[in-house]
Amino acid sequence: MKPAPFQYLVPKNLDECLQFLYQHPEDAKILAGGQSLIPTMNFRMAQPMYLVDINNLQELSYIRADKSGGLQIGALSRHYQVEHDALIAQKAPLLHDVMPWIGHVQIRTRGTIGGSLVHSDPAAELPAVMVALNAKFKVKNKKKERWIPAEQFFVSLFTTALEHNEVLVEIAIPPMPAHAGSSFQEFSRRKGDFALVGVACLLVLGKGNVCDQARLVYLGVGEGPIMASQACKTLIGKQLTPDLLQQAAKIAAQNDLTPPNDLHASSAYRRHLAEVLGEQALSQALERAEKNV
Ligand SMILES: Cc1cc2nc3c(=O)[nH]c(=O)nc-3n(C[C@H](O)[C@H](O)[C@H](O)COP(=O)(O)OP(=O)(O)OC[C@H]3O[C@@H](n4cnc5c(N)ncnc54)[C@H](O)[C@@H]3O)c2cc1C
Repeated sequence: MKPAPFQYLVPKNLDECLQFLYQHPEDAKILAGGQSLIPTMNFRMAQPMYLVDINNLQELSYIRADKSGGLQIGALSRHYQVEHDALIAQKAPLLHDVMPWIGHVQIRTRGTIGGSLVHSDPAAELPAVMVALNAKFKVKNKKKERWIPAEQFFVSLFTTALEHNEVLVEIAIPPMPAHAGSSFQEFSRRKGDFALVGVACLLVLGKGNVCDQARLVYLGVGEGPIMASQACKTLIGKQLTPDLLQQAAKIAAQNDLTPPNDLHASSAYRRHLAEVLGEQALSQALERAEKNV
């Protein structure tokens, strides 16, 4: 399969890239790792007139701590770099844990964190993890820069709040609260396949080990990452027991989610997976949070 004809452009820096997108907001597409865009073009589901290759923009490739102890990750950082970065393992264990679940090593070597977030596949792991971590995204066009919280970034199937002439520049992850624990769980038929269902969980314990914060975010069960709000509410302010975690996972599966039926799995099967994985994620997150108390 071959893509429709296009012009290939290689900006020397971010300003040149933004200038180009400003001139051609509707007809240009950014090329990062190409792991999603190129297949989409080969199937002719995307037919951009201009392909703007940002692979030379090293200014978008970095992983560093900010002053508050959080993380700043450049959008062009490869999955593989994120997976093997010691700072990420230390400061955002949930992000560290999720990386090996993304495709195969070849895809992670080329694919970028920014590309995955902007592509916004409903079965992708990173959008759910970013919502669980309360991340925010710096986006820029030629005229202005703005920050979008992860919870507002993912609008629907393959659609984000990014405007046509904007580039995702940076992902900011706030510092992990003290006494926090996280977990990522997923089920796919074969290792490396997109998930049938996955879940990212962050629990924060307060005084007397009472639950201060609970974030349980699913993927593969809707048009984007879905926060299981009712399940989380049942946990806040309570001592977390195995029974309560089981009850919360049931509430998530029954009340918070409306999983789709498709070729890969029925809605009922996805609901079942959501409950099982939800309970596993909550239990592991609690175990880890208790070790951090
Ligand atoms: C066989 C296979 C298996 C895979 N399995 C998984 C999986 O299990 N889980 C998973 O999450 N993903 C999976 N992927 C997708 C992979 O993670 C891609 O790397 C990712 O979705 C896109 O990142 P990319 O850098 O390749 O982006 P590209 O393909 O280059 O771009 C994707 C989209 O994002 C836009 N874009 C890219 N960067 C920016 C930016 N900085 N600002 C604005 N727009 C931008 C592009 O214009 C395009 O619309 C798989 C891919 C393949 C081929």
